[in-house]
Amino acid sequence: MKKQEKPLIGLEIHGYLETKEKLFCRCKNFHDMKIIKPNTNVCPICTGQPGSKPMLPNSQAINKLLQIALMLNCKPNLIENKRPLIFQRKHYDWPDMPKGYQITISGAHSIPVAENGKFLGIKIREVHLEEDPAAWNPDKATVDYNRSGAPLVEIVTEPDFTSPEQVQNWLKQLILTLSYIKALNKDAGIKADVNVNIKNLTARAEIKNVNSTREIIKAIKSELKRHEKEKPIKQETRRWNPVTEKTQLMRTKEEQADYRFIPDPDLPIIKINKKRAQEIKNKLPESPQQKLDKIIKKHKINPKDAQVLTQNLEIVELYEKVSKKINPKFALPWITVEWLSVLNHNKKTMDDVNIKPEHIIELLELLQKNKITPLKAKDILRKFIPKSFSPKQKAKASEKITDEKELMTASKAICIKNPNAVEDYKKGKKEALNSLIGEVMKKTKKRADYNIVRKILEEKLKNL
Ligand code: ADP
Ligand code: ZN
Ligand code: MG
Repeated sequence: MKKQEKPLIGLEIHGYLETKEKLFCRCKNFHDMKIIKPNTNVCPICTGQPGSKPMLPNSQAINKLLQIALMLNCKPNLIENKRPLIFQRKHYDWPDMPKGYQITISGAHSIPVAENGKFLGIKIREVHLEEDPAAWNPDKATVDYNRSGAPLVEIVTEPDFTSPEQVQNWLKQLILTLSYIKALNKDAGIKADVNVNIKNLTARAEIKNVNSTREIIKAIKSELKRHEKEKPIKQETRRWNPVTEKTQLMRTKEEQADYRFIPDPDLPIIKINKKRAQEIKNKLPESPQQKLDKIIKKHKINPKDAQVLTQNLEIVELYEKVSKKINPKFALPWITVEWLSVLNHNKKTMDDVNIKPEHIIELLELLQKNKITPLKAKDILRKFIPKSFSPKQKAKASEKITDEKELMTASKAICIKNPNAVEDYKKGKKEALNSLIGEVMKKTKKRADYNIVRKILEEKLKNL
């Protein structure tokens, strides 16, 4: 490709707001529940029963949406500027939408909740609020309404991305940041419409409803390949087939869907005033990036460790809490190296485990006071999955052994049990000493003081 023919990628991202309830009824938000059984979290409103009317919109959802908008540096549309927000009906007939329309603040002639933002170098066109449809499984001919009516945020970017890798990294940071401030539920996943074209070469293809970051990246890569091969490409709407890993034609520009948007007469106009927007802005938590920058500066963390922290923003908060009580330099490798490797080894993230900073603090204190060995500390860290505990309570059984008499007895027993190693050492094989030390460590469940054992064994072997 020539330089001016770079890919242009724009996203319309749908994510689940972190609220207690659905948008227009008092059913629980589905990701707040342990119930998995289909259609157990429903009412006449979210199943679209004839005659049902929406309740007043969930104000928590609107607040969370404003948090997201402000975090993405968008400007909310304020009533002082004569910008009322109108819920519209977006009509389509599918079994996942029994009313025959979806309620949304987006659509033709709509005023978005907020617009003109920027996040990590990518311009944000608009941020919307809408309700989630039900989950329809055409193969099994079933519909599950548990999530029907859950509040969704839609984030529309400008076509500022130029590669799938850039999209991947940006989405990761976006999801982390918005879930870090507890506005977005990252476990519920995201869906996106992915718009792809090659500048000056092909028309835009919109791939509808791609689930998960992984599939989004795959879809972009596959679509870019098609654009490079099959010129000319017409403007089309396509769907992603995760099985063939290819996109398929849904409809062309001429047959664009007509959603017949009309304002919903059952819902009030939303008026966001300056004061409300300002209050939310003032209370906005620090973003993980801001927090990280502060920590890096404050503790003069070297670039390599800083990089590890950037990739694992959930760890930043843990590190910050631990380093309030423990020397930050001392604590750093225990978090960025040891704890991360325990997580990686178990294929877990911070979300999968229940770890209390106080327990890590206790552990590191025991280590600093020489009450446990580093080996033992690592052992305990490994046992912190899936749940941490007070290591002090278990420490009695894991205190470091420095008592020479006790270590002498243990060493003696090991020498008797391993005559070959003793022989080897006497013949001049120095590494045999290490294997004997190792045996003593094993016998004492890693509690023996390494240096004392070494001294005792060296003495003992001299005299044997
Ligand atoms: P529509 O409403 O038909 O979906 P919009 O113009 O509102 O179209 O754009 C929606 C999305 O398409 C945005 O995310 C935007 O970034 C993206 N987009 C617009 N033009 C292009 C383009 N030439 N290439 C790639 N993406 C684009
Ligand atoms: Zn309901
Ligand atoms: Mg679109």
